[in-house]
Amino acid sequence: MKIVEVGPRDGLQNEKQVVSTQDKITYIELLVEAGLSRIEAVSFARPDRVPQMADAEAVMAGVPRRLSVSYIGLVMNERGLERAIASGVHEANIVVVATETFSQRNQGMSVKKALDGLEAMAERASRSGLSVSVTIGASFGCPFEGEVSTEQVTDIVRVAAQLDLNEIALADTIGVGTPVDVRRLVIATKEITDKPIRMHLHNTRNTGYANAFAALELGVSALDSSSGGIGGCPFAPNATGNIATEDLNYLLERSGSPTGLDFDRLLEASNFITSKLAIPTPALLGRAGWFPAAEYPEALPRS
Ligand code: MG
Repeated sequence: MKIVEVGPRDGLQNEKQVVSTQDKITYIELLVEAGLSRIEAVSFARPDRVPQMADAEAVMAGVPRRLSVSYIGLVMNERGLERAIASGVHEANIVVVATETFSQRNQGMSVKKALDGLEAMAERASRSGLSVSVTIGASFGCPFEGEVSTEQVTDIVRVAAQLDLNEIALADTIGVGTPVDVRRLVIATKEITDKPIRMHLHNTRNTGYANAFAALELGVSALDSSSGGIGGCPFAPNATGNIATEDLNYLLERSGSPTGLDFDRLLEASNFITSKLAIPTPALLGRAGWFPAAEYPEALPRS
């Protein structure tokens, strides 16, 4: 299981406080130092719609470049994709939303129009040397239309499966899913395609980690998380954010799926960004500490 760090994008995008370009770059440097190798650094949304991401190009110009690190840019349309390519991201994460109302509100187009444009965008991105993933937003539920059927998601998976792209992601954008939904959607997706599946989970209703474990057991290849669990949900004003990278890391490591991340450095990154945002850290590992604690290696047998 691979952790995809989305704090700099989904986390910061959903925080009220706007963080300076230099602080975003420092945050990303700390994440790289912690060992994260896929980082969703920016969104190429319209700056007037998403002011938190208005400096996407400047952030990408300042991030540390390492052969081992792949930067992801979120894109919603052709214009965003051109910006992503020009900025030097390694991966384009193209969003398509499962429901009509959300699609209109999020990207100003119908689901059909978004799907019609997908092939050309995926081709354009891969011709430019970018890895491409498609994220299906609101796969588990829609803030406007409520329940989302399996068919609404698999209709999109079927289109994406035919295209030249590297990964299909199922997003619980508003954090309503349960492990039963994870199982239902992953099994339905695997019946259509053998492309790698990534999951984007929010802990809005405290089901995020149960969902992550279900995804692990089902052979999902990557999970999105934000360090510190920063972020929120634009449709639930007091909600917490993505599942937290350090808490997910603990769950995975202790479940026999090593991530190779440096726990202490991960906490440094979380503490840095939550201090800049002036918010308490939603993640719990920083409070409780790792187990077994490194200072007392003799305290517990390693079996
Ligand atoms: Mg999200």
